[in-house]
Amino acid sequence: MAGEPQADCLFCKIVAGDVPADIVRESATTVAFRDINPQAPTHVLVVPRAHYRDAASLAAAEPHIMADLLCEAAAVAVDEKVDETGYRVVFNTGSGAGQTVWHTHAHVLGGRGMEWPPG
Ligand code: 5GP
Ligand code: ZN
Repeated sequence: MAGEPQADCLFCKIVAGDVPADIVRESATTVAFRDINPQAPTHVLVVPRAHYRDAASLAAAEPHIMADLLCEAAAVAVDEKVDETGYRVVFNTGSGAGQTVWHTHAHVLGGRGMEWPPG
């Protein structure tokens, strides 16, 4: 069923507590934890507890959870003190764009200058 945990999904395992992670925030619908391979001084992933393959799938099925995700991303930026200097929220979607984990996740990146366009 849509949104149900997937046995072979790394982020479902982190949400369930079966794989350890450095969790920085939790809400009723989301979990935020530090990326294992940080690309900036602040690099936190915010994921829904529900399993969807990408951001658009989550938004289409459960838009209120997508809103929660974005609010939690902003809260992470405040917690990490990068809200005033600026931060980037990234949803890699599809393998050609760099998606490697098929459970919706927002990258929250900050604490250094950001180039535009991104690589
Ligand atoms: P994607 O490439 O799908 O946009 O992002 C997946 C992210 O998950 C990558 O930045 C990668 O470093 C991170 N990642 C992969 N495995 C783990 C893990 O076991 N723990 C944590 N905390 N992050 C992970
Ligand atoms: Zn999952």
